[in-house]
Amino acid sequence: MTKFRTRLLIALITLIITVLVGLGILLGHLLNNKFLESLKDHLNIEFLLILFISLGIALSVIIYLGIRITSRYTKQIEAATDVAIELAKGNYRARTTADWLDETGMLGRSINRLAENLQELIKVKEMQQDRLSVLIENMGAGLVLIDSRGYINLINKGFIDIFHVKPTDFLYKLYYEVIDYEEICQIIAEVFRTEQKVSKQLLVPFFIERRYFIVYGVPIIGANNVWKGVLLVFHDITELKKLEQMRKDFVANVSHELKTPVTSIKGFTETLMDGAMNDKETLDAFLSIILKESDRLQSLIQDLLELSKIEQQGFKLTIQEVDLRSVLEEVITIVSGKSQQKNILLELYCKKEQVIIKGDIDRLKQVFINLIGNAITYTPTDGNVKIILLEHNEKVRIHVKDSGVGIEKEEIPRIFERFYRVDRARDRNSGGTGLGLAIVKHLVEAHHGNISVRSKLGEGSDFIIELNKDLT
Ligand code: ADP
Repeated sequence: MTKFRTRLLIALITLIITVLVGLGILLGHLLNNKFLESLKDHLNIEFLLILFISLGIALSVIIYLGIRITSRYTKQIEAATDVAIELAKGNYRARTTADWLDETGMLGRSINRLAENLQELIKVKEMQQDRLSVLIENMGAGLVLIDSRGYINLINKGFIDIFHVKPTDFLYKLYYEVIDYEEICQIIAEVFRTEQKVSKQLLVPFFIERRYFIVYGVPIIGANNVWKGVLLVFHDITELKKLEQMRKDFVANVSHELKTPVTSIKGFTETLMDGAMNDKETLDAFLSIILKESDRLQSLIQDLLELSKIEQQGFKLTIQEVDLRSVLEEVITIVSGKSQQKNILLELYCKKEQVIIKGDIDRLKQVFINLIGNAITYTPTDGNVKIILLEHNEKVRIHVKDSGVGIEKEEIPRIFERFYRVDRARDRNSGGTGLGLAIVKHLVEAHHGNISVRSKLGEGSDFIIELNKDLT
C-alpha cells in the first residue's frame, strides 16, 4: 500500500510543479511581455525547449501512473463482476484470481470468501436434501403430497410400487382425476374439509390379490396458519393381517381338534355312568372308543408341542454323520406292523451299502416316520409303498412312493398347512392330527433341503425329499 501511495504522491507533485511552471509562464506572458523578452534574452531558446520536454515527461509519467492505477482497479472490479455473475448462475466454485495482498485485492478476497461460504451452505443444503429424498423414497410406506389446490406434487417409490403406477400419470394432476379408489379420495376430501388428521384401514383389491392398508391423511399447515395441502401415508399391513388370520385359524383349529375327542370321551363316559357300564359288551366297546379318543388327544398335544418347539426361534438341529440307509431301515421296522395289518408291501430300494449325510438323526427319523406312516395310511389294503434312496454328487434324494388314494393337484400346495386335510371326515378317521406334513416341511427346511409332491388321484403319491450331504 505504501508503494502505491508514494507513486500517487510523485504523480501529484509532478502535476503540481508542471501546472505551476505553466501558470508562471502564462502569467508572465500576460502581465509583462517585457519580462518575457528579457527572459528570452537571458535564457534563450534552449531553456524553453528544456521546459517543454520536462513538461512532456511529467505529463507522460502522470498518464502512465494514471493508467496503471485505473487498470489495477478496473481489473479487480471486472474479475469480481465475472465471479458475481457466475455465482448468480449457480456456479459456486467460481473464484477470482485477482486477489493481491494489498488493499486493491480486498474486493477479490471478499468475493472469494463469499463464494466459499455460499458453496459450503449449498453443500450442507444438498446433503440435507439428499438425506430427505433418500428417506422419502425408502421409508417403506407409500407417500403422496397434495397441494392446497388438490394437485399431486410428490409421490414416492413406495406408492409407485404399491399401486404399480407411472409417476407421470400422477404428478401435477388433480388427485380425484387420477386416484381410482373412491375410499382414498374420500379420506383426502375429509382432510381438506376438516383440516384434521384422518386414519383408516382400507382393503384394496389389486387384480387377483387383496391388500390391507392403514392410510393416514395429515393436513399440512404452514406458518401463519397457511393451508399448504395434504400428506397421505400408506402402510401395507397385509402380512400382519395374514398373520392375525393365521393365529385366529390356528386357535379355531386347535379348539376344534381338541373338542371332538373330548366331547366323544365325555359322551361315552356319561352314557356308561348312566347305566351302560352294567352291560359288559357295551362297557368294553365304549372303553375302547374312549381309549382311541384319548390316544388321539395325546398325539394331537404331542404334535402341537413338537411343532411349537420346531417353530420356536433358536431351534437347533443336533448335527452328526448319519447313514440314511440305516435310518430308513429302522423306520421301516417301526411302521412294518401297520403295513402288515393292511397287507401293504413295504420296500426299500438303495444301491449303496451306506449313504452318509450330515443331519439330525432323530429329526430325520421323525420326517420318515410321518411320510411312510402317511403313505401306509392313505393306501388301501394290498397296495404297496416304495422307498427309494438315490445319491447324486453332493445331494441325496428320497422318494416315498405309494399306490394309494392320491391327492388332487389343487390340494397339493395346501397339504403342508397346519391342520389341513384333503377329506376332513375321512382323514380324521385315519387317526392323523393334520400336523404331520407341517412338521415334515419345517424339519426338511431346517436341514436346508426341500420337499415336493407328485400325485395323481386314485393312482398314488410320490413325496420327494432332496437334501445336501453337507448341510450347506
Ligand atoms: P394327517 O395327520 O391328517 O395325515 P398330514 O399333515 O400328515 O396330516 O397330512 C395332511 C393331509 O395330506 C392328510 O390329511 C391327507 O389328506 C393328505 N396326505 C398326506 N399324505 C398323503 C398320501 N401319501 N396320500 C394321499 N394323501 C395324503
